[in-house]
Amino acid sequence: MLTALRMNCIKPSATLAMSAKAKEMKAAGRRVLDLSVGEPDFPTPSHVKEAAKAALDADFTRYTAVPGIPELRAAIAGYFKRFWDVTAPPEATMATNGGKQALYNLLMAYMNPGDEALIPAPYWVSYPDMVRLAGAEPVAVPTTAHSGFKVTVEALEKARTPKTTLLILNSPSNPTGCHHTQAELDAIAAWAFSRDVFILSDEIYDQLVYEPAKPASMAGWWAKRPEMVGIANGLAKSFSMTGWRLGYCLAHPDLIKAMAKLQGQSTSNVCSFVQKAAVAALTGPYDAVDAMRRAFVRRRDLALRIIKTWDRAVCPTPQGAFYLFPDLSGYFTPDAPDSTALCAKIMDKTGVVTVPGAAFGDDACLRLSYATDDASLEQALTLMGRVLMG
Ligand code: PMP
Ligand code: GLU
Repeated sequence: MLTALRMNCIKPSATLAMSAKAKEMKAAGRRVLDLSVGEPDFPTPSHVKEAAKAALDADFTRYTAVPGIPELRAAIAGYFKRFWDVTAPPEATMATNGGKQALYNLLMAYMNPGDEALIPAPYWVSYPDMVRLAGAEPVAVPTTAHSGFKVTVEALEKARTPKTTLLILNSPSNPTGCHHTQAELDAIAAWAFSRDVFILSDEIYDQLVYEPAKPASMAGWWAKRPEMVGIANGLAKSFSMTGWRLGYCLAHPDLIKAMAKLQGQSTSNVCSFVQKAAVAALTGPYDAVDAMRRAFVRRRDLALRIIKTWDRAVCPTPQGAFYLFPDLSGYFTPDAPDSTALCAKIMDKTGVVTVPGAAFGDDACLRLSYATDDASLEQALTLMGRVLMG
């Protein structure tokens, strides 16, 4: 059967595809060590689950306003006050079905066909395809493992054209774990505004920044230039709520209105009782978030200790998120000459599932998620090392 032409310009999500592959292998009885998907292995904090149960018991199960219940929009605004000291009216916020829909809504509501979006590479798999779905063109801005995957104003200026209208930033980054300091973000913001480039800042890993690095955000710039900045975030990573599908956005109220119009013609509101749980998450205690952050630091260090023994790997120390993105091109061989083949070889020989760097715009690397228990992580990396060292 023929499908619409627009489907030819996008690929399936490589992260979700590798995660599905890991599940398939498990179902077929193979031993699998899954470092593919970025999904915390912790339970959702109990006060959040209790809030969802209470909402269900109170029959809070009907349609709600598309951009979210007033309580949740106030809680989202409260989050920006609590962490970034930014005062935002509830009309500058909306709840979305995952961080993904916040990004998708914003790109659809802001970009015009023919516009170009700058995307520092390595990038999260979905950005280029979402830009294409909006009829615009993704333009990758290369960075390297040797420079810690940081994007600079010089590199952005080099990639900019008169058609550039938007920049997608993701710090801390999926897939590299690279974190930009506030001073670095400030320099990028000053450059973007001087060129009339809108900043879409995906801050879904903002709670997962590891000392001595300090959290940083574009929220302060939103307060100064609300028509030039949008911030996407969500509860999936910080509260271990991937399956709940709760994301949110801070943007100019006019842009939020346009995004809500799109959402109203596609998916409508986020699940009603999940919105109540989100209020509990955003306004409640953050002890569980702090505990998860400590566990991720421990796992990052455990993984890096092993990777450092791979003498031909280049792997900067990630300062946030829960991914490692080693450049393993030093281990490419005639039978595994690129990231896709190396990923397949490792999976075949050991049952360790990773994601090829090619999906993130860097064919020299593999992405390893350390959002898995310490023992599996150690075992997976030890097995991987044996394949690499041959
Ligand atoms: N942005 C980034 C950088 C991500 O890694 C993810 C995937 N987990 C998302 C957005 C979307 O997350 P979700 O839709 O699960 O909230
Ligand atoms: N973002 C996560 C990842 O990169 C989840 C999968 C997805 O939504 O792509 O693994």
